[in-house]
Amino acid sequence: MVKISATSKSERLNDLLDKIKEASNLFLGYPVSKDFDYSELHEFLKYPINNLGDPFEDSTYKVQTHEMEREVIDFFAKLLRANPKNYWGYVTNGGSESNLYGLYIARELYPKAMVYFSESTHYSVKKNIHLLNIPSIVIRSQENGEMDYDDLENTLQFNRHKPAIILTTFGTTMKEAKDDVTKVKGILKKLAIQDHYIHCDAALSGSYGAFIEPRIPFDFEDGADSISISGHKFIGSPIPSGVILTKRSLRDRIAKGVSYIGSLDTTITGSRNGHSSLFLWYAIKTMGMEGLKSRYLQSLEVAEYCKKELIKLGIEAWSNEGAITIVLPKMSDAIKDKWQLATEDITHIICMPNVTKKQIDAFIEDVKKEKEITSKQAITYA
Ligand SMILES: *Cc1c(COP(=O)(O)O)cnc(C)c1O
Repeated sequence: MVKISATSKSERLNDLLDKIKEASNLFLGYPVSKDFDYSELHEFLKYPINNLGDPFEDSTYKVQTHEMEREVIDFFAKLLRANPKNYWGYVTNGGSESNLYGLYIARELYPKAMVYFSESTHYSVKKNIHLLNIPSIVIRSQENGEMDYDDLENTLQFNRHKPAIILTTFGTTMKEAKDDVTKVKGILKKLAIQDHYIHCDAALSGSYGAFIEPRIPFDFEDGADSISISGHKFIGSPIPSGVILTKRSLRDRIAKGVSYIGSLDTTITGSRNGHSSLFLWYAIKTMGMEGLKSRYLQSLEVAEYCKKELIKLGIEAWSNEGAITIVLPKMSDAIKDKWQLATEDITHIICMPNVTKKQIDAFIEDVKKEKEITSKQAITYA
């Protein structure tokens, strides 16, 4: 093994830290909050915390944070209006694993089902459907990114003889569009498809969905059977994490006991990150429901401000109702690179809780300057 000298090692670390700090300051295009402070939990990094097994079952491995994990699940169960007597879940590695779990339960319940998801669905869903080998049909999206309910109804009609798994999205990746679970339920009822399952991918907007007014139906009371939430997006965490919530009665159907860990093998991975549960627990204890709500309202205000300022410059910026994502036409490569804007045929600014009006002003200033230069050039060329 080539030995790296101590100085070069610490130099490398310092360089890395500088780069990460700089990149983290100019960051408007991805949905991750950076305004967290978990320094009180520093001591816990010295221990091999592993949340192996089901968080609601005893296990022989005791270096774990199951108790905190259960409180995180309880918090989200309340927030997502789960039946207090019939919920279950665990802290995952992120939204992708949460989606895999939801689809896994759905397939175990209805092995002969068809999955329906819209064009705007997150890429993890397509991969998960492939992994689980479930037949699927893509439903058109409306212009705003929301599922086209007429297309869903027509497509379901042709497949009425099959159980239906509907994957709804609450906060699509590019436009933060939200599928209405009540409308989906209504269509299933109208077509008398009794064997159905709705998984709601709320990785992006699930942690603040309860505070959006007017309310957009998406949670357990609205008809979802399982819901994915992300931990490192709106709430914020140094390590990616997520939450999957479902009904306890559904989990019971797939639970298998494993004597080696003295617990139930109800999770996708065996070893599980116990620090993530601790971070999430710390965050919800610090914020509470009220704190989470004001966090959303503050983000919404910054988003509305950003939209207004862009419109003032003559840029066609818009957003879905209640969204903290502002959609705008493709920007120049220089702006896109500097502000790390994810771009497809459009681009977006996501006003996560750490994004300030000051940052928006700096961004607007860049857009303005560029506009002035291009309009000057246009005059010279004319
Ligand atoms: C982020 C996101 C995911 C995936 O989450 P990861 O944590 O990256 O695995 C899935 N769906 C939606 C809508 C998302 O925003």
